[in-house]
Amino acid sequence: MKLPDFPAGEVWLVGAGPGDAGLLTLHAVNALEQADVVVHDALVSADVLAFAGDAERVFLGKRGGKPSPKQPEINARLLAEARAGRRVVRLKGGDPFMFGRGAEEVLALVAAGVKFRIVPGITAGIGGLAYAGVPVTSRDVNSSVIFLTGHDHTGLSPEGIDWAAVGRAAGMIVLYMAMRHMAEIADKLVAGGLAADTPVLVVSHATLPEAQVLETTLERAAADIGASGIGAPAIVSIGRGNLLRERMAWG
Ligand code: SAH
Repeated sequence: MKLPDFPAGEVWLVGAGPGDAGLLTLHAVNALEQADVVVHDALVSADVLAFAGDAERVFLGKRGGKPSPKQPEINARLLAEARAGRRVVRLKGGDPFMFGRGAEEVLALVAAGVKFRIVPGITAGIGGLAYAGVPVTSRDVNSSVIFLTGHDHTGLSPEGIDWAAVGRAAGMIVLYMAMRHMAEIADKLVAGGLAADTPVLVVSHATLPEAQVLETTLERAAADIGASGIGAPAIVSIGRGNLLRERMAWG
């Protein structure tokens, strides 16, 4: 199989997966090996970046609560690198389109007439849970799953979300960026009718050696997170499917 050549002056938006470099796609490795510059975010692991050889590394990412580059600045840098005739990899944790603002970056490239390629990645909310022994769907437990971000661009939990409807809509709720708002989210889900003892799993640094897993319930989630010290980046899954971990935990 011949993987594509990387033409000079293009930007390839590449998913880096949740951390374990073994979860990179062949297209991702092919892109990194040919890149002149890799513009990456905070969630990309050192093992993944190692595939970029001696390409220049530019860290332009966002970190919750810390000063971070504005999206226009990131877009401008991608355009400038492409116009300089470089092979630009924009490397983003997980899948570039899953709460990653990948679409905004692609639209900036489109507007500027810069050619691009999109390399999907394994998202933390599926692959990270799988490493913890939790399937996001399973025929006997849940046939639907909902992916949500726990905060919006203001950093607040999304007021616009109808949490009661979310609780009814899917057998499994997978939350990204939710750690700071767990108390509020859990309260709203319980108020909306979800059982207070619904199993909750928190997986931080999923797929990496420093991974931590916390098993709790909706009513205890916020307190247990606080007491355990488990931190971001973390995925929170809510639903009975978490119980399969008892038999499916591996690694
Ligand atoms: N595009 C990424 C998500 C970016 S939003 C993806 O598809 O996975 C950032 C959030 O992703 C984090 O706050 C956390 O909720 C989640 N996340 C990313 N990598 C993770 C990891 N290795 N372990 C646990 N959560 C992770």
